[in-house]
Amino acid sequence: MKRKIYVLIILTLTFFLIYKMYIPSFSINKKNIEIEVGTNYEEPGFKAKKLFKDLNNHVTVFNSVDINKTGEYKIKYLLEYKNKTYERIRKVKVVDTEKPEIILKGEKNTYVCPNKNYKEEGFVATDNYDGIITDRVIIKRSRNKIIYSVKDSSGNEKIVTRKLIYKDVLGPNIDIQEEEKVNIYSPYYEGNYKASDNCDGDLSKNIKIDGNVNTSKEGTYTVKYSVKDKSNNESIKYKKVTVGNFHKKTIYLTFDDGPSMYLTSKVLDVLKEKNVKATFFVIGPKIDALRHIVKRTNDEGHVIGLHSYSHNYEKIYKNDDAFWNDIDLIKQKVFEITGKQSKILRFPGGSSNSISRHYNKKIMSRLTKDAYNHGFVYFDWNVSSGDAGGTKNSEKIYHNVISSLTNEGNIVLMHDIDINTGSLKALPKIIDYGLRNGYTFSVLNENTPVIHHTVHN
Ligand code: ZN
Repeated sequence: MKRKIYVLIILTLTFFLIYKMYIPSFSINKKNIEIEVGTNYEEPGFKAKKLFKDLNNHVTVFNSVDINKTGEYKIKYLLEYKNKTYERIRKVKVVDTEKPEIILKGEKNTYVCPNKNYKEEGFVATDNYDGIITDRVIIKRSRNKIIYSVKDSSGNEKIVTRKLIYKDVLGPNIDIQEEEKVNIYSPYYEGNYKASDNCDGDLSKNIKIDGNVNTSKEGTYTVKYSVKDKSNNESIKYKKVTVGNFHKKTIYLTFDDGPSMYLTSKVLDVLKEKNVKATFFVIGPKIDALRHIVKRTNDEGHVIGLHSYSHNYEKIYKNDDAFWNDIDLIKQKVFEITGKQSKILRFPGGSSNSISRHYNKKIMSRLTKDAYNHGFVYFDWNVSSGDAGGTKNSEKIYHNVISSLTNEGNIVLMHDIDINTGSLKALPKIIDYGLRNGYTFSVLNENTPVIHHTVHN
């Protein structure tokens, strides 16, 4: 009996040794692996040997894992040895366990006007695997909160909440010109202010104005603008008004009603020769045909102002909208040609014209007040050349101008229309007189202290 057992043990050991000598051992570590999508796959290793001989270099690995794509993959290990093939398989699962993100536009605690509905401010949902998945967001709304949820393609869910607080916490926005220069003895107008509130809309009419500007005394004055919205949020702004003599011995040559076919270029030639810059308040009817002239005017350093597109009193003074639409049209034309947004304006007939009364009562009172709100500063004149009727008498024009000059700011009104050859002839003489007598020639812009007429309509 014992003998039989010994024989059996010896036989088993012999078989085992023979087996080890002829049949290689081949194993892989970790048969099943899970990795997060987008992360590296690290080979856990394999071992092939026969008795004491390493056979790893007889193994070929077939790896089809795409780490950027979720799914189940197989990695095949083939050991080829002595005309025999041995196969091992590893399963690799590429998974996405990361939650998507929801990014809310605006605040997580959103203030909503008490009497208004919340208007969705927007959101973006992104996922590490699916990319942008905003269109998969599901929104649940109640009065006080909004719940945004989204799932990615692997079922990972993200939930974000926006809290709605029905309260107006923002004061109105006051829009004023924060600094203003007023020439001494010129009228100071308090028309240039606006207030708007996020909840209550236009509150311009509720603005309280405190402070006094004495235009007959040089100095700096502060005007306070304050306004409250319906929720009692108050906003305050201050304007600094400086009264002084800002344009000592300055001449601003201004030409209305151009461009013109023949005269503008000749006026430009004179200005170039004398090295003087001027301001041209242009109109629309010929502007398309004379673009090159407007362009030259701008290129040579002169300022282009707006004088309406149609210059047709009946049309532009019919009502406020008609006027501002007409101005927008000429503004657009000038912008197309010069690339500049003109901010200065001269009313046809000046702000003092009473002809507008035939078409609309009090329209000039409104337009002059609204100019700032439309983004313009308007200029009248205090020196008239008298060339409006097309007078050819250059001596008379010259005398009209030089006899009206003061030692302060002089805005000279002239007209750029072809029949005004008298103005052209007087121009070099006017410039020579000014230069000889210590005047500076300058151009108007939105910061030039204004000269305004008294409004009659
Ligand atoms: Zn005009």
